[in-house]
Amino acid sequence: MPEWTPFRPPRRLLLGPGPATVDPRVLQAMAAPLLGYLDPFFQQCMDEIQEMLRYVFDTKNRVTLMSPGTGTSGMQCTLVNLIEAGDEVLVCVNGYFSNRICDLVERCGGKAIRVEFEWGQPIDMDRVASALKSCRAVILAMVHAETSTGMRQPIERLRELLSVRDVMFLVDAVTSLGGIPVGTDHNGIDACYSCTQKAIGAPPGLSPVTFSEKALQKVRARKAICRDFYLDITLLERYWSKERVYHHTAPVSAHYAAHEALRLIAEEGLEARWKRHEQNSLMLQAGIEAMGLQMLVAPQHRLWTLNTVRVPEGVDEAKVRDRLLQEHNIEIGAGLGPLKGRIWRIGLMGAASTRDNVLLLLSALEKILKSEGLKAGSGVKAAEAYSQ
Ligand code: PLP
Repeated sequence: MPEWTPFRPPRRLLLGPGPATVDPRVLQAMAAPLLGYLDPFFQQCMDEIQEMLRYVFDTKNRVTLMSPGTGTSGMQCTLVNLIEAGDEVLVCVNGYFSNRICDLVERCGGKAIRVEFEWGQPIDMDRVASALKSCRAVILAMVHAETSTGMRQPIERLRELLSVRDVMFLVDAVTSLGGIPVGTDHNGIDACYSCTQKAIGAPPGLSPVTFSEKALQKVRARKAICRDFYLDITLLERYWSKERVYHHTAPVSAHYAAHEALRLIAEEGLEARWKRHEQNSLMLQAGIEAMGLQMLVAPQHRLWTLNTVRVPEGVDEAKVRDRLLQEHNIEIGAGLGPLKGRIWRIGLMGAASTRDNVLLLLSALEKILKSEGLKAGSGVKAAEAYSQ
């Protein structure tokens, strides 16, 4: 056997689609001594996580907890519990992750009814309403913040659809929770999930989920047992309740990290946090546009957490990303699916959403683009002027 040296990852600034760079307090929390999952101190940690999650989701839902696994586990947890064999699910498809919802609906034994919209364009609620009229859907699913395109779906009109059909609203808030208002109860959302590694500000590994009473009634009325043991919400619920019925060994250190990240959110306050995400995104957009580059999404539909920039003609997008990483230690993301090679995805999420990070990225990008022969204007100056 060779002698293995300790693994020492470089210190990068993570401005891609996630994971995002976290606050040092969160990393420090992960180094705390392990506790058993039934230790009273650990149970207190779980209780507090639930309480703070209710604040972040803006919900009174009793069943609000961490599903073990990344954002996809929350997607699967909500779908596998709510779908019974043959259930129709109307899925609004306008990006990579709404396609994944369709895939999971079918894997859960449901029938995905796709209402398609152009990638990067918001869903047209009138078309959704007429699609709802012509099917037997029991669930309407959509992505709030589409990470593949940088588009924010206005979910504020969801409730109006209840007059068309009494469906369950399922919302993917993976790239919005903690950075953009979700308003779970206010918007009538019945099942919602997110992740820890984006605007929540912790490493990947857990998925916040919340189920309304209406959603739980559907779960309780199931004819067949939930197909997935690991993500069965009735078992997760008993594990997270006072009963503490063993279900799985909690990823203890990941919970410590999430607890600290949520504490940081509570300290900052949600309103102030949303404002910070908005301001830094607008500042980045001002810089990008002053450089002569274009954003993909129309201004009123842009996400504050994930900014998509069109790659200028003649520029090698992968080379620019590689140079950002190798020469400046900054990670940004590439396009997915039909947008592969056509856009850069710049995340400004959680602790990574700062004025300094925006200026750092703009100055590095400007330098690289100029050295690649592009006539770029001064993004840094415009961003500085914007933020004054
Ligand atoms: N949904 C959206 C909108 C996402 O952006 C992602 C991942 O980026 C997922 C779901 C899946 O989350 P994860 O990669 O954490 O499993």
